Amino acid sequence: MNDLTIRTLDASKTISEETLAAFAGKLRGEAALPGEDGYEAARTIWNAMIDRRPALAARCRGTADVIHALKFAREEKLLVSVRGGGHNIAGSAVCDGGLLIDLSPMRSVRVDPSARIARVEAGATLADFDREAQAFALATPLGINSTTGVAGLTLGGGFGWTTRKFGLTIDNLVSADLVTAEGEFMRVSETERPDLFWALRGGGGNFGVVTSFEFRLHPLGPEVLSGLVVHPLDQAEALLPEFRRIANEAPDELSVWSVMRKAPPLPFLPAEWHGKEVLIFAACYAGAMAEGEKATRALRSLGRPIVDVVSPHSFVRWQAAFDSLLTPGARNYWKSHDFDDLPDGAIAAMVRAARALPSPECEVFIAHLGGAMTRVAPDATAWPNRRAHFVMNAHARWREQAQDAPCIGWARGLSESAAPFASGSVYVNFMPEDEHDRVGRAYGANYRRLAEIKRRYDPQNQFRMNQNISPA
Ligand SMILES: Cc1cc2nc3c(=O)[nH]c(=O)nc-3n(C[C@H](O)[C@H](O)[C@H](O)COP(=O)(O)OP(=O)(O)OC[C@H]3O[C@@H](n4cnc5c(N)ncnc54)[C@H](O)[C@@H]3O)c2cc1C
Repeated sequence: MNDLTIRTLDASKTISEETLAAFAGKLRGEAALPGEDGYEAARTIWNAMIDRRPALAARCRGTADVIHALKFAREEKLLVSVRGGGHNIAGSAVCDGGLLIDLSPMRSVRVDPSARIARVEAGATLADFDREAQAFALATPLGINSTTGVAGLTLGGGFGWTTRKFGLTIDNLVSADLVTAEGEFMRVSETERPDLFWALRGGGGNFGVVTSFEFRLHPLGPEVLSGLVVHPLDQAEALLPEFRRIANEAPDELSVWSVMRKAPPLPFLPAEWHGKEVLIFAACYAGAMAEGEKATRALRSLGRPIVDVVSPHSFVRWQAAFDSLLTPGARNYWKSHDFDDLPDGAIAAMVRAARALPSPECEVFIAHLGGAMTRVAPDATAWPNRRAHFVMNAHARWREQAQDAPCIGWARGLSESAAPFASGSVYVNFMPEDEHDRVGRAYGANYRRLAEIKRRYDPQNQFRMNQNISPA
């Protein structure tokens, strides 16, 4: 080891070889410098648009490592970033020149099947969680891509196929273990520091580093009725109003998401459709198979689909069904809006954008929310818009840097043309790095309380590599 130049909160400094060695010696995990084992893995994240180089990566193996890393950062006034699963579109998990606190080695999941509780470490992915919970036919609502990190997803709110039935991910959070900017450990729950527990449920990584989460589990699976119904895109204007009606009338168990994109070369799609624009309805019924057959009938009798592959699937496999389309390493840019309803004007804007996809992997998706999540008060957690029934994401995805401008421009164009029909709020976990000015919209009436809690727990704004809430 040599002396190390590293970024602080307001400038940069040199840390002596001895100081660095003393810090590294305290860790159960590794302190990785550029070129050392683990450094590239720690700094490489899902979105290839983000290419940042921290001066040092603390690859944590437990809460003690996180405490040491945060005390070191406080003593040396270092810029830090915190990595869970590394999936955030804004790339806030990685800082340039500072200390990266990498939680990805911490992946244990312990399920207590009789209490229906899971204790999940902060580096676990959704796949880690689902595999353990499904061994007991239990689940909690998570997202739709199994390589996403539980930590970032939960701290921003979290929704997926079972949200309409069981609520947001945060609605199923029982407690969290957290280390503050001062390096102090605390457990937070409804009864232990309830203000901080309120803020963690949607407020992102603004308040401390969570080392593990405790979740409530629900009986589900091991199989669920799920799958895709695929139509030609030229049917979208006729079918999306029907999708809206079905979504509005659906029982809590049924979620139907809609995706417009060029058909990927999936084995169940006829080869003549590969690369052509399609409208995909993705459905999941979180309940009994026979009830699911009835509940999906209206969706499955729409129009004349190219294929209908809705059938019983293992829940673990369904949770990973989109993984092959969402692999790490591509360039990605997102623009998102919440919708309380889906007016015709919004549908028209989305279909227009789907007819002008700038790359084979771009897509417009509409997530179907509502149900149980709406029966929680908007001020019960930091997540404010409980009315949101649909979330649109203009997902631009491409491979070559030369395509940056047309792909980003396409997403921004759709965002602008859909905005007049949207509710005004936005999901904090879908915001790219150039949207820090939208944080107030993301939290709405809950922002002031979040800023107060931020002032109490992180007055120096140590945790600033995120969709940042300024200390009040
Ligand atoms: C392909 C894809 C599909 C997705 N699908 C869904 C979906 O269906 N539903 C949904 O709700 N979201 C979805 N998301 C969004 C996802 O919730 C966010 O990207 C989330 O931030 C990912 O968490 P992570 O731990 O992987 O991210 P990271 O990039 O590691 O972390 C994101 C930020 O969270 C904070 N953070 C992470 N871990 C901790 C911690 N332990 N303590 C304190 N702060 C921490 C940090 O500020 C960090 O910068 C999807 C994302 C992708 C890329």
